[in-house]
Amino acid sequence: MVNIAALKTLLAEPKNIVITTHHKPDGDAMGSSLGLYNYLLQKGHHVHVITPTDYPIFLHWLPNNGEVLIYTDKVAESKQLVADADLIFCLDFNALSRINELGECVAASAAKKVMIDHHLDPEDFDDYRFWNVNACSAAQLVYEFIVDFMAEPELINKDVANCLYTGIMTDSGSFRFPNTTAAVHRIVAHLIENGAENARIHQLVYDTSTESRLKFLGHCLSNRLQVFEEYNTSLITVSKEDLAMFTITTGDTEGLVNYGLAINGIRLAALIIERPDRVKLSLRSTGDFPANEICKKYFNGGGHRNAAGGASDDSFEKTIETFKTLLPTYKTLLLQ
Ligand code: 5GP
Ligand code: MN
Repeated sequence: MVNIAALKTLLAEPKNIVITTHHKPDGDAMGSSLGLYNYLLQKGHHVHVITPTDYPIFLHWLPNNGEVLIYTDKVAESKQLVADADLIFCLDFNALSRINELGECVAASAAKKVMIDHHLDPEDFDDYRFWNVNACSAAQLVYEFIVDFMAEPELINKDVANCLYTGIMTDSGSFRFPNTTAAVHRIVAHLIENGAENARIHQLVYDTSTESRLKFLGHCLSNRLQVFEEYNTSLITVSKEDLAMFTITTGDTEGLVNYGLAINGIRLAALIIERPDRVKLSLRSTGDFPANEICKKYFNGGGHRNAAGGASDDSFEKTIETFKTLLPTYKTLLLQ
């Protein structure tokens, strides 16, 4: 790791900059990326946001979303930009496997890499690191990067504020998770003072479902939810037929796993989805229960203690079975 202050010197002159974030970007991934993009633009840099895959439509209103390149749609152009970059900002992830094929391009690029992240166990691929596992979101860290490290609070304009508000709101479960500290609320207050349209953002992110998506939610809660009372655990399983029946697209299953945690006494909520490419698992937990440990040990994944994810190459049925057979191992922790 080189002296972090050198990054300020680098950013003093216009640079070719790429910002990238994790596979299937969520509100924090896109909010932090476009927040940083809208900040760097004001400083005269040539900036591109490249995502490894597509992302939910309810994030497409974010300021300058139209400038985002999706790697899978623009492979050659993305590779060229990464190869030619002076600086690559890696937001909301800390392992190159999280950006799929793009990871190899980033590793091969001579650009200096800046990690801005809040996940456990960072890999060692970066030159500059803004990492804090206690941060509620990568967007919080981007705010601190601009305001504290770069000392440019005046560059938190309306576009930056709207993006960062979105990242903080979505990753903190609308300001309800334990890491939504007083300091986070102060940041949010500053973002609103600088133009973040809080009521509009909540509406755009949470109240723009299609009728089909809402009916899909009803179907999952009525027909696909199982509760294992003896383990304080709930499980929602969604097959590829369920996805097809309600024409579910990227982002439509976002937040579904949280419903399992809304049942009184539930300590662990799981969602298993039979996606076209692989079986995806999402876990949410309360208190000290290590959801990320299960994802890391058994499902090639990781994440935070209370919100983690992974995937399996096994069949849908086998993955469900694997998850169920793990519960007795964790019984003591689940009943605490
Ligand atoms: P979700 O369940 O919403 O997909 O993800 C919850 C959390 O787990 C996020 O913080 C995300 O970064 C992390 N996560 C999800 N899938 C994976 C994965 O396959 N690998 C790793 N390392 N983390 C994941
Ligand atoms: Mn995040």
